[in-house]
Formats: sequence, structure tokens, C-alpha cells
Amino acid sequence: MSTGFVSVAYVVASVLFILSLGGLSHQESARRGNFFGIAGIIIAVGATIASVSMGAGGIASLVIAILIGAAAGMFLANKVEMTQMPQLVALLHSFVGLAAVFVGFAGYLDPLVITHGAEHTIKLVEVYLGIFIGAITFTGSLIACGKLDARIPSAALTLPGRHIMNLAALGVSVLLGAWFLGADSTAEGMLPLIIMTAVASVLGIHLILAIGGADMPVVVSMLNSYSGWAAASIGFMLGNDLLIVTGALVGSSGAILSYIMCRAMNRSFMSVILGGFGQTTSSSSATAADSDLTVQECSVDDLCEELGMAESVIIVPGYGMAVAQAQNAVGEITSLLRDRGVTVRFGIHPVAGRLPGHMNVLLAEAKVPYDIVLEMDELNDDFPTTDIVLVIGANDTVNPAAMDDPNSPIAGMPVMEVWKSGQVVVFKRGMASGYAGVENPLFFKENTRMLFGDAKESVDKILGALRS
Ligand code: NDP
Repeated sequence: MSTGFVSVAYVVASVLFILSLGGLSHQESARRGNFFGIAGIIIAVGATIASVSMGAGGIASLVIAILIGAAAGMFLANKVEMTQMPQLVALLHSFVGLAAVFVGFAGYLDPLVITHGAEHTIKLVEVYLGIFIGAITFTGSLIACGKLDARIPSAALTLPGRHIMNLAALGVSVLLGAWFLGADSTAEGMLPLIIMTAVASVLGIHLILAIGGADMPVVVSMLNSYSGWAAASIGFMLGNDLLIVTGALVGSSGAILSYIMCRAMNRSFMSVILGGFGQTTSSSSATAADSDLTVQECSVDDLCEELGMAESVIIVPGYGMAVAQAQNAVGEITSLLRDRGVTVRFGIHPVAGRLPGHMNVLLAEAKVPYDIVLEMDELNDDFPTTDIVLVIGANDTVNPAAMDDPNSPIAGMPVMEVWKSGQVVVFKRGMASGYAGVENPLFFKENTRMLFGDAKESVDKILGALRS
């Protein structure tokens, strides 16, 4: 294929990727966004294969690699539960990081383009940076995956002098970089490159281990951003414009998402990256163990009676609704109540569940109309005029300690102010804390009652009672 055609194909693919990102930012257009992305990637892969002259052996190995990758992807996509999606995303980010490391080494040992003088120095810097970012992304994403999958404790690992250790690792990497750039031969350059890869890998592990559970959403999108920049650096190494554009799109959109989430949690980006937040603690004001606070229970029958009399209901879903797979039954209750003239709306906290947009996907699956699914900021002022709020499997995102207790680990994080409504009913199995490991004073408020049990079972019982 001529260079002109390849360039046109790359421009078309880049535009499709931008349209895809635009589409994915709204529920209504997300499906279209996915199609744009699929079309873009097919054009990009097709044009890249057509632009490289390779023998039958090369094409055969490429097809085999694509088939193996596609089969593994389809297997994982079918097998993975929605609740396991964040760890899958983190694992996939680690692959991008590992690819950047491999391509970096390959590009250094066997460069596709021979460069000289200043151009050669720039190329070496690209190789070095690509491997550095790639190694941090690889190990950091594996640790994030382990934390999200509860294989590694979610509490932050705060070693004494950890910031000094991180700075030392950065300093050592810079010195190794100077050695690498001054090396007389490829063989001599390999030693600093290998040592830097090891240092960056340990840095990636340490950086993410130091970040606590409450900051994990930001970590996931931050690693998404890193994987984008790693891909962009691969693009520079390979002289592939499309990879540079795509990597920059992923890198910047991940960074923007991280910023938006930090703002939603009232956290500074630097304090998240430097870690130490979100550890399990019992310093919060209302702990059931050390006080005589009691909770009030609620029965399914009482709740159904009250729902029958309510004019406005807000449902606040959280991670527990996803675990219980209660979304379809919740969707059915919603349409039953709406048919009876009750105003029902959903309030979605930006970090409810385990992935940005987690709740929106589940509610879309349950065919809940988009226009009644509102963001926290759109709904927080409406709680005082709401009769009943159903908190289904949410905990940290409705915790008043974030506003009332300056010593709480989640102090300052904006939350859904559900306690301001007439009545709150919390659906959960027991008194366990949420992901951030913080006690929740909401459960002890006068207008709060607990409906204990698996969310799906409770919602099914309510559905049955409302139908009859
Ligand atoms: P939480 O993790 O705070 O709480 C979930 C609650 O659901 C638990 O208290 C649990 O209580 C209950 N639960 C679990 N299983 C069931 C079940 N089968 N039936 C009924 N209840 C159940 O959830 P939120 O959505 O409120 O908050 C999300 C948290 O996750 C935040 O801390 C956020 O920072 C963090 N996070 C968010 C990410 C994101 O991008 N959205 C990514 C990573 C972390 P019990 O065991 O008693 O039933």
C-alpha cells in the first residue's frame, strides 16, 4: 500500500478514535462510541499490516498471534463478571506496559530506523523513557489488579521514608540514563537499561502498594493514562504516527479522568500519587463497637407500605447491588413504582462501585431510562424534598463522616447526602464497612433503617410484595 493511503487510513482511524471517546462519554451514545472504536482499530491494524512488506511466514505468525489474542480476549470477556472488570482493566494496562518494555528493548537492539547525531540521542531517550514508563505501568498495574481482586490487602503500605526511597529510585534512574546515553556500544548500553528496568519495576510496585483502597479509582485511571503514554513512546520508537496519536489520546483522557475523580473525591492529584491515604482505620466518630449506638431494622412489608404512600423516591446504588446482581429486579421495582405515579430517580456517585461508570452500565443493562439516572451533583439538593431513599449496597459514598468528621480517612470527599431525606432504608447483609474500611454513622441516624440481607433477595421480596 502506498504511503499516501496509509497516511489517509491513519487519519481516518485517529478521527474514529476521537469520535469513539466522545461517544463513550454518554450512556446514550456509548454503543455508537464502541462501534467507532472497533472500526478505527480494524482500519489501523489493516493499514499497518498492508504498509509493511513481510513474507508469507511473517503474515502467518501475525495471523496466529491475532487469533490467539482474540481468543484469549473473547474468553476473558465472557468469563469475567461485571464486578471483576476493574481488575481486568488493570491487568490489560499491565500488558501495554510490558509491550512498551519489550518494544523498547527490541528497538534498541535491532532499530528499524538507523539514526545519527542528535537524532540518535533523541531516539535513545525515547527508548529509555518508553521502557521506564512501561516497567512502572507493568508492575504497578499488576499490584492494582491484586488489590482490586483482594489478593493483596487494600490498605496503604506506608514504609518509613517511602518518599525518599521513591526519589532515590528516580535519581538512580536519571544517573543510569546518563550512563546509557554515554555508552559506546549497544552491549555497554544494555547494562544500565536492564538495571533501570529493575529499578522502575520496583518503583511501580512500591508506588501502588502505598496507595490505599479509597484512592483505587484514581489509580486505575492513572494507570490507564500511564499505559497511553507508554504506547505513545512505543509510537515514537517505531516511527508510527497513529500509535503516537492513539497513545496521546489514551494518556490524556486517562489523566483528565484522574483529575475529574480527584475533584469528585476532594483529593489533590499529588496526594493520591504520593499515597498513604485510605487505610483501614477506626478513628472515625461513630464506631458501633465503642459506643451504645443502635440501628433500627426495617421489614419488607413496612417498606412496601411506605413505598405505596411515597411521592418521591431516590435509589442510591453501590457496589453491593453489583455483587448481588440486583439491578434487574431494581429496574422492575422502578417501573412498577413509576406506573403508580411515584417519582423515582437514581443518584450515582462518581466512584460508586468499583469502576467509573459501573452503576450506569448495570442500570442500562436493567433498561432503567437514562433520564432518571442522575449524577450526585444534580441530585444532592433534592434529598430534603424526597420521601424515601433506598441505599442499595452503597456505603462509603453515602457516609456523612466525610462531611462531619475531619479525622475520617474520607474527610472532604463529596458524598450523597441521603440522610437529609425523610427516610433512609439501607440494604446490606450486616454491619460491615465499605471499601475504604470506614465506619458509617448513617446507619445510626434516627431516620435510617436497615434492611438486612442479600440485596437481590431483599429486592425480589419487595418486588413480589408490590406485585401482589
Ligand atoms: P462500598 O464498597 O463502600 O460498600 C459496599 C457495601 O455493599 C458494603 O458495605 C457491603 O456491606 C454491601 N454488600 C456487599 N455485598 C452485598 C450483597 N450481596 N447484598 C447487599 N449488600 C452487599 O460501596 P460504594 O459503592 O458505596 O463505594 C465504592 C467504594 O469503592 C469507594 O470507597 C470507592 O473509593 C471504592 N472504589 C471505587 C472504584 C470506582 O472507580 N468506582 C474503584 C475502586 C474502589 P455488607 O458486607 O454488610 O453486605
